[in-house]
Formats: sequence, C-alpha cells, structure tokens
Amino acid sequence: MDNFSVGWEEWLALPELGLPALKAKTDTGARTSALHAFAIQPFGSDDKPFVRFGVHPVADNPDIEVYCSAPVVDKREITSSNGQTELRYVINTPVVIGGRKWDIEITLTNRENMTYRMLLGRTALEEIAVQPMESFLQPELTFSLYDKIAKRKRIKRPLRIAILTREPNNYSTKRLVEEAELHNHVVELIDTKRCYLNIQSHNPEVHYDGKPLPHYDAIIPRIGASLTFYGMAVVRQFEAMGTYCLNNANSIGTSRDKLAAHQILALHRIPMPTTAFANSPKDTNSLLGLVGGAPTVLKLLQSTQGRGVVLAETKKAGEAVISAFQGLDANFIAQEFVKEAAGSDLRCFVVGKRVVGAMMRTASDDDFRSNLHAGGTAKNITLTSEEKAIAIKSARVLGLTVAGVDLIRTSTGSKVLEVNSSPGLEGVEKISKKNIAAKIISYIEKNVPSTIRQSKIKSKIY
Ligand code: ADP
Repeated sequence: MDNFSVGWEEWLALPELGLPALKAKTDTGARTSALHAFAIQPFGSDDKPFVRFGVHPVADNPDIEVYCSAPVVDKREITSSNGQTELRYVINTPVVIGGRKWDIEITLTNRENMTYRMLLGRTALEEIAVQPMESFLQPELTFSLYDKIAKRKRIKRPLRIAILTREPNNYSTKRLVEEAELHNHVVELIDTKRCYLNIQSHNPEVHYDGKPLPHYDAIIPRIGASLTFYGMAVVRQFEAMGTYCLNNANSIGTSRDKLAAHQILALHRIPMPTTAFANSPKDTNSLLGLVGGAPTVLKLLQSTQGRGVVLAETKKAGEAVISAFQGLDANFIAQEFVKEAAGSDLRCFVVGKRVVGAMMRTASDDDFRSNLHAGGTAKNITLTSEEKAIAIKSARVLGLTVAGVDLIRTSTGSKVLEVNSSPGLEGVEKISKKNIAAKIISYIEKNVPSTIRQSKIKSKIY
C-alpha cells in the first residue's frame, strides 16, 4: 500500500457490520484492534460460533445504536491500557479507510465512555505508515450516515433481570425487586448455590432446577462471603454468556480478599490506615512495629461484619492474638488503631461514578467496631467532596460498579477501611432517606440497552 498513511485518528467504516462511519484512534502499542461494544452475546454452535453485539458509533449520542453479528474466529486474553485482563471475542471483518479495504481482526470489549469507539492496533496497520503527529490524513466520513437509524421510533422494552441471592426475603433483595418492577422490568430470584454450570461449549449455560436458565439482560450479584468462590464461578458464567453483571466476578473476588484489595488500593495511592501483613511467627515484633506498636487492630482476612476484628491494647495482647491466629493457620492483617475515630466509620454507597447514599456508624460504648451487626448505631452524614472522591476511586480501582466503601476519619484525613461488593441497602436507605435501589436499577437501564429502535433492529437481535 504505497504512500498510504494514516494519522493518530482516522475515519473508517466496517461495512459488513453495518457501521458506515467510525472515528478510530491508531494505537500501535496494541497488537489487535478493538471495538467498543455492549450486550456482547455468543450464539450459534461450537462448530460455527457467532457473536452479536451492539455499538454506539457516535460516542456522545447513545441514541444511535447499531446491532451487529459476526462469526467468532478466536477468544483471546487481552490486557488493556489500564492493566486489566479480559477474555474477548475476536472477529474478522473488512475495514475501509480512504477507499481501501482489507480484512482485520477486531476484539470486542465493553468499556464505557471511550471517545474512540475503535482502536486500530499494529496488526491492522502492518503495511501502512502511521504518522503519529497527524490526524485525519484520509477523507472524512460523516455520522449523518446514521441519521436514518436515529429517526426510527424508540420503544422501551422491559429488561429481564436476575438477582443472584441466597436471601430472597431480605430487605436489599425485596427493595431491588420492588424498584425493578416499578420500572416495568421482569425480575427473577436465583439461588446462587443451586446453579450448576455448563462450561464446555461455545454456548455456555447456567442450569437451574434441571433446565438451562434463559438469557438475562442483567444480573445483580448479591454474593454472601461464605459463597464467594462458587458465587464468582456463577457470575463468571453469566459474563461468558454476555449478560451484563452489575459487579463482575474478578472484582467481587478481589474485594473479598482483604489483602489483595488493600494492595490494589495502596497501588493507586488511596489513603488507608498503615497496614501490614506477615506469615511467619518470627516477624511478630517487627510487624507490630510497622504499624506503630500498640494499640493495634488485628483483622482476620476472611472477617465480615466486624467479627474477626480485634483491638490489641498492648504489645503483649497483640502478640497473643497473632500467635492464636497463626496457630489456627488463619491469615490476618495488622493495622494502626485510629483512636480519634472514636468508634465511628462512614459507609459510602457507590453506584457507578456516584456516591448515592452515606451514613456514619458509631460503635456501642464498650466496642471500637461500628458494624451495625455488632450493636453499632447509625446516623445521616454529609460527606466531604474528598471523601466522595476516595469512595468513588476505591470502587473504580477494584472494578466494582456497586460498592459499600467504609472510610474512617483520622487526624490526617479520611482513609479506606474496606470495600464491600454486596453492600446491604437497609441501613443506608433508611438513614440517608435515599432511594438507592432505584439508582441501581437506573444504572442498569443506562448500561443495558433498555430501549430499542422499531423495525429491522428488533428482529435482528431480540
Ligand atoms: P469487617 O469487614 O469485619 O467489617 P472492618 O475492617 O470494616 O472489618 O472493621 C470493623 C470495624 O472496626 C470498622 O467498621 C471500624 O469501626 C473498626 N475498625 C476497623 N479498623 C480500624 C482501625 N484501624 N482503627 C479503628 N477502628 C477500626
């Protein structure tokens, strides 16, 4: 392709996918090209695997929606620029730039808010010169090519939502059902433990009561700590089926592993009380020293609701607790005791990029743990903008869409204690008087196409 070069951004078309105009960014740091899609669902058979997906070709106009389907040529682990690895479908389709047409491989990924719906990787540009200082070297295309689609009338469709829970009657489950139904969606409750998984075929399935479950538009995972491992497998299976999962399996797993979560938060410079971890009994002394000596808070890694959290007032008590934990082969972290918090912490309820509710919990007189299950009380609280930013960032770096982020106010600013991937709604809805269930359902509606264009598109996908 002599004298044919592209700039760092170019217009292109993917004619066989029905995408006549896209703005793409060249990214020679990436091998394969990527297209940002949503509702990515496999179909077809193991011999002839296909994938269908939706694309919003115009970044700032989600009203324009195109549904595409293509044969799957591969599934590949791709690490994106933010370091997250994901298994993606790979399709092969012709690209047209400046009147030239050639076949390229494209991976499909669901990432919100990317200005460029398409990244052109190295392999797509093998014989083409890239001029990284120039943009739009090839003729411009126009988004008006989508005008016809935008003119079709939109109709709202009910979503089919499943809540993965072992507790159909608890407050959080009931509220989510209530709000989803108020928004005219169909909700089913699925007992995580009774799901079994067909992980063999191209068409992965979740079975329940002897039958494969139907395709859900969205899953709300409410996975209790005791079922993390299996719950993650079930969520992962729904992800493989192309279902939108409000929190993904990896993020649930990472946030449950307090040590991993602390490491990730630290990596992203999110403030947290000084925390240390060790395995061998020899290190007890220096471990306690690392977190500033007594008093020290010692936490079992699998603790929830404050049950495995101990305050060691003296060095001797600290050593005794550590030796007891080690005798039980239990993993734990040691943390500086934040005395000035006076037994209070802040629960921030994050949905997407917003804190949608918050409360301050205070321990009963004879405790330092503020968990409501441990007898604490709660009151309404206004968070500072810094606290909101910390909560939102914590959820984001752990990859959680819905998270309960616990902060503790220290003399050097608010710091993160832990991030919960299935936060309860009861306390925070009642105390903050916010309709958090509705925020969760609206968030799902924004991220799963809940309206469709009449005519062609309807028959194509649903
Ligand atoms: P869990 O996951 O079991 O709830 P947390 O780490 O949230 O464990 O700790 C439970 C409670 O103990 C917190 O809500 C907080 O009130 C108190 N707490 C935890 N860590 C500290 C600390 N470093 N200093 C003071 N209080 C703490």
